[in-house]
Amino acid sequence: MILDPSRYVAPGMAGPQGSKPVRGNIYLPVPAQVREVHRENDLVTTFVLEFDDPLVNQEFSFEPGQFMMVSMPHCGEAPISFSSPPGRGGGFALTVRRAGRLTSAMHRLRPGDTIGVRGPYGRPFPMTELAGSSLLFVAGGIGLAPLRSVIDFCLDHRSDYGEITLLYGCRTPADICFADDLERWSRAGVRCLCTVDEADDSWSGRVGLVTELLQDVQVEADSWRALVCGPGIMIHFVLSRLLEMGLPRDHLFTTLERHMKCGVGICGHCFLEEKLICREGPVFSLAELDDTRNL
Ligand SMILES: Cc1cc2nc3c(=O)[nH]c(=O)nc-3n(C[C@H](O)[C@H](O)[C@H](O)COP(=O)(O)OP(=O)(O)OC[C@H]3O[C@@H](n4cnc5c(N)ncnc54)[C@H](O)[C@@H]3O)c2cc1C
Repeated sequence: MILDPSRYVAPGMAGPQGSKPVRGNIYLPVPAQVREVHRENDLVTTFVLEFDDPLVNQEFSFEPGQFMMVSMPHCGEAPISFSSPPGRGGGFALTVRRAGRLTSAMHRLRPGDTIGVRGPYGRPFPMTELAGSSLLFVAGGIGLAPLRSVIDFCLDHRSDYGEITLLYGCRTPADICFADDLERWSRAGVRCLCTVDEADDSWSGRVGLVTELLQDVQVEADSWRALVCGPGIMIHFVLSRLLEMGLPRDHLFTTLERHMKCGVGICGHCFLEEKLICREGPVFSLAELDDTRNL
């Protein structure tokens, strides 16, 4: 469901003569309250949000792979993916890496604070099409955030999916996000393999790029699908390797990031290969992408 701003009028908003409330403005954010704050590491925090309006809360729904446009006064607006699965009630989670003005301001948020959100936007992962398959997730750094929504969705609908394997790579042990989820997923039968580019004294696990973990998995072309998210260069090398391993292009999915202003296919900022990432993506199968070298 796209949050329909005509059903929701921000407090204090008024029409041209101060008479009628402003309705139908797609850019109007809806207030949502921060319910929980979970520090993932020094740069990354997960926020659980709930709409101020209980009716909006009740009716709001989204799908894994979609994103919200998030805003704070004087800080601008940015797209952020859902990191929790839909259908559990109790709000939704966004996991944010401190990058610039808005995301730094978000890191100062505390439970009870309010931000603006609009959405959900974008084409999600094709969860119905993926049903019946075994799934290989490959994530780099905060790229695990949108895949976390998918993994938890699959666990909530366990009988619909086959084996689940997660390969997760980070630059250093300090960059790992969702440490508790990795343990929880392992206990739930997800095969989780982690690696870091550079180890420190705290790390006794694998060292090397996430592509190296692909040596440890066997995937069958018919029954496996792969979902990949991370930095562009990582996506390129992982997808190339998965092709070499025999997975067809239409069994490979990724979610892309580009600068976005509107989130709804109007401004054109996120144009790539004749596609608007915000509206036709951010999720694409490799069959839909000509060239992954410049992701
Ligand atoms: C569909 C989508 C989903 C996203 N999901 C998440 C998410 O779940 N969690 C998360 O932390 N981030 C996510 N991002 C990235 C996030 O939107 C940017 O980091 C955010 O716009 C930064 O806003 P800011 O005001 O803090 O930084 P700004 O002050 O606007 O920029 C800070 C720096 O980051 C660069 N930058 C900004 N946006 C991007 C971008 N899209 N790609 C590359 N460089 C960029 C700027 O050029 C600048 O150098 C997503 C982006 C897209 C397109």
